Amino acid sequence: MDVVPAEVLADTGDRRTVDRDLRARQLDGYLRRLARQEAVCRRVLGRLARTFLAGRYHNRLGFARLGDWTRERLGLSARQVQDLARVAERLESLPAIAAAFAAGDVSWTQTRLLATAATPDSEGEWLALARDRTVRALEALVARPPADPDERHRLRFSLRCPRRLRARWRQAVELARRMAGSELPLAAAAEVIAAEGLSAAPAPVDDCPFREPPPEPVDTPADPGWSAVEVPIAEDVEKLLQLGPAGDPFMIDERLRVARRAMQRIDWQMGVLLRTFFDLRLHRAFGFPSASRYVAERLGLSGRKARALVALERGLRRTPALAAAYREGNVSWLRALTLLPVASRDDAWVARAGEVTLRRLVAEVEWALDRRDAGLPTAPPPPGATLAPVERQMCARSDDMLDADITFAAAPSVVALFRAALDAFRPAGEPRWKACEKLLEHVCHEWEAQPQHRDPVFARDGWRCAVPACTSRANLHDHHIRYRSAGGDNSRANRVAICAWHHLRGIHLGRIRAHGTAPHAITWEIGVRRGRPPLLRTLGDRYLP
Ligand SMILES: [Zn+2]
Ligand SMILES: [Zn+2]
Repeated sequence: MDVVPAEVLADTGDRRTVDRDLRARQLDGYLRRLARQEAVCRRVLGRLARTFLAGRYHNRLGFARLGDWTRERLGLSARQVQDLARVAERLESLPAIAAAFAAGDVSWTQTRLLATAATPDSEGEWLALARDRTVRALEALVARPPADPDERHRLRFSLRCPRRLRARWRQAVELARRMAGSELPLAAAAEVIAAEGLSAAPAPVDDCPFREPPPEPVDTPADPGWSAVEVPIAEDVEKLLQLGPAGDPFMIDERLRVARRAMQRIDWQMGVLLRTFFDLRLHRAFGFPSASRYVAERLGLSGRKARALVALERGLRRTPALAAAYREGNVSWLRALTLLPVASRDDAWVARAGEVTLRRLVAEVEWALDRRDAGLPTAPPPPGATLAPVERQMCARSDDMLDADITFAAAPSVVALFRAALDAFRPAGEPRWKACEKLLEHVCHEWEAQPQHRDPVFARDGWRCAVPACTSRANLHDHHIRYRSAGGDNSRANRVAICAWHHLRGIHLGRIRAHGTAPHAITWEIGVRRGRPPLLRTLGDRYLP
């Protein structure tokens, strides 16, 4: 059941005539109850995740990397899941803080800070400190506050350019990932590209291209604002903690997914209310200088998380089919964000989100965006199709029109490095995108000349592990689908690129199975168990019943 009544979520009132104070108090009441429910879900996730991580259950389920399992099954990053588990572990030796959280006396953000700072001897003092201080003041008292996985300082880099240059950028990012042997985030790929460019460029580099922006003013209202919130939590979330005798990886995987779905339902409601709250600047009604201070102090949420919820909510307004799938928990938060740029044009994308692994979905959306740049239709590709890169000639049609962007968000140091690399490649008096073009040509040329790019099986499989949902590109092995010892031949149709972990500890330890013909007709069984169906069965990246 939703906490917020349907008419509030529908938000049909005229915004100009609304009584702002009344509206602020109403939304604040719902938001605080939602935040409390969300915090309880986090605690449940953390306790389950602790068992999962301690047993390295992702390996038992057939995933080489923790992050591959967290993204595919929960739509969260590995870092977020580890953070939840860390708090759960600390609270086991801090009974007073755990009790204060259970009673709703402290928010999630406060609990997280207290779990970092307090010891069994000092937890009483810390609780007292938390009760009469703002979250920000408490944070200042914690010697080394944990880096918030939702809230790390990032800068946005953006460059207007012709479309063909953006296609080149995607190619350079792909090569950077291949060179690194892993699915580098965009920011890390940008860093590698810049470093490669700078190592070749003799030109002087500006040594101070970036200054930190001044910090936000620190005054917040005297009333720290958090008081106990009693909220009934859906029974199925609490029941998830009755673990039973032995930790079964498959069962914990399922319970984590149920908790995650409950959390997503709450997140969706929060996104709807926060959008109105932000649009009307209702934080002022409570005397907060900014919306992010309101969110931190009253809701115990990070500003980044709140902004992401609102951004997703705005995007979902344009894509009703995707919005419905997200609301019902059929599409994870990561999948919904991935689909936003394409889903408004074609509902077929929403169906596709439930049919393929997240890894494949990301690749298909990137492929469709490349096609859009070239003026081609952006419907999903046929199932299992090879995603051929869009020909460069096609991109050259609108030659020097600046109608595309290269953008990424990264730590300030990375953005600075990238700007420095652009300066080093800039022909005198030419626009910046020409410098970017020169940099990318240089980097692609260097990397394509590396000998490791000539293996035919690895090339066919895109220099990545072929096991569905795996994002590893390092230590690839050439595996025979039908073993040589069982009469398998040496043809390319019987060979597939897979990472060392999946090869030695997945396939050859019986946690995953593969049969069929490479590259398009391999059936995978991931998370193989005795007497019951495997966790996942797929044909390539496509789920099988
Ligand atoms: Zn093998
Ligand atoms: Zn793998």
